[in-house]
Amino acid sequence: MDSSDLRRLPRMDRLLAQPARADSGLPRSILHQAADEELSALRAGPGPVPESSELIRSILRRAVSACKSSLTPVVNATGIVLHTNLGRAPLAGAAVEAMTGAAGYCALEYDLEGRRRGDRTARVEALLCQLTRAEGAAVANNNAAAVLLSLAALAGGKGVALSRGELVEIGGSFRMPDIMAQSGAHLVEVGTTNRTRQSDYRAVVESGEAQFLLKVHTSNYKVVGFTQEASLSELVGLGRAYGCPVLYDLGAGLLLPPRQLGLPEGTPSASESIRAGTDLICFSGDKLLGGPQAGILLGRKWAVDAVKAHPLMRALRPDKATLAALEATLQLYQDPDTARREVPVLAMLSATQTELRPRAQALARRLEELCGDACALSVEDGFSEAGGGALPGVKLPTALVTLSPRDRTAEELDAALRSSVPPVVALLRRGRVTMDMRTLRPGDEEAVCHAVEQSL
Ligand SMILES: *Cc1c(COP(=O)(O)O)cnc(C)c1O
Repeated sequence: MDSSDLRRLPRMDRLLAQPARADSGLPRSILHQAADEELSALRAGPGPVPESSELIRSILRRAVSACKSSLTPVVNATGIVLHTNLGRAPLAGAAVEAMTGAAGYCALEYDLEGRRRGDRTARVEALLCQLTRAEGAAVANNNAAAVLLSLAALAGGKGVALSRGELVEIGGSFRMPDIMAQSGAHLVEVGTTNRTRQSDYRAVVESGEAQFLLKVHTSNYKVVGFTQEASLSELVGLGRAYGCPVLYDLGAGLLLPPRQLGLPEGTPSASESIRAGTDLICFSGDKLLGGPQAGILLGRKWAVDAVKAHPLMRALRPDKATLAALEATLQLYQDPDTARREVPVLAMLSATQTELRPRAQALARRLEELCGDACALSVEDGFSEAGGGALPGVKLPTALVTLSPRDRTAEELDAALRSSVPPVVALLRRGRVTMDMRTLRPGDEEAVCHAVEQSL
């Protein structure tokens, strides 16, 4: 923009005094910011000065988009059940209700019968112990917090033996060696990347280098080929023989054994890890459990009590909405069949291709009617992933609906779907927009049809 154009730009105070903005109901500070940005963009750009009404419209658009919640609900058509970028586990209806119920005043730390102070986590802990037969339970803000707390409370100043094959990075800079350093424990690496034996742990315990044993489930990768790892029971046996506590980070732990929940064998479960005699285990609340973001700690009473007594516990505890959602989710687990049906993560993960195919065909028929010649549609078989660092390498047979638009690219259609209300997040594969039926929730088909109709 040249200097004569620059002079013709309206002044900010005049712009903001326009009647259009008075009707917008948007906060003045947001409008000010939007006008500032719009004028700067115009000054920097090559274009001419727009009409004042056009300028006001642009400013309002900017302001509206700045006010939009970043937590806007989306349709997950990726088939990735625990999509960390899309909020991991969608909550069960009962959990959502419980969260809303707890949003106002609630008897969080109040004993209504005794008219005295109550315990904020007593009910959740009792449920966790009952479901897994653990002696004690505690809940932290997330599993990263649970790992940090466990190590700080039980292994501070000690050497902690961990296999080189389990030096996990979860993402978001959660790296096992870094967390270990923060906790005050020191890492004693044992074995090799691909092979670690019980004798490797024994060597560092016998030499006095390590006084604590840690096992971490490699939840987001798989070491394949010439591999070996010490089993949990081998570590527990060693721990007993040498008086070393054993901590197991399950990552995406299941609460109950996989066969009770219709999931592939080989996924570690809390109840089985407790039965193996592990002193303390921890896992995420919003991965395979299908609840809110939380870190669940279970194990021997002495170990859990030590964690709860640590000063960091207060800094890393969950809020009332989380506790309400977690309690409601755990209630569903009292009957494994109810959990399979009502906990969305379990229902989606156990959905079979036979169940998903007719849903894909029905959606494709509806889309075909809407699209006419604008788009070629097909229903195909494929595979979905659990995601969220759960069930690595497990491919879940699924049904897909693919769209190939005729007059625009798949990238353009995909972008339009993402900007629809609600946004639809699909996959882009081999030049086609692909939707996986596994993660569509009841009612999502409607939103998908609306988005496709608007996008073509
Ligand atoms: C996901 C994961 C964590 C971190 O859990 P958050 O609940 O995301 O904090 C820690 N350890 C393992 C092995 C994991 O898979």
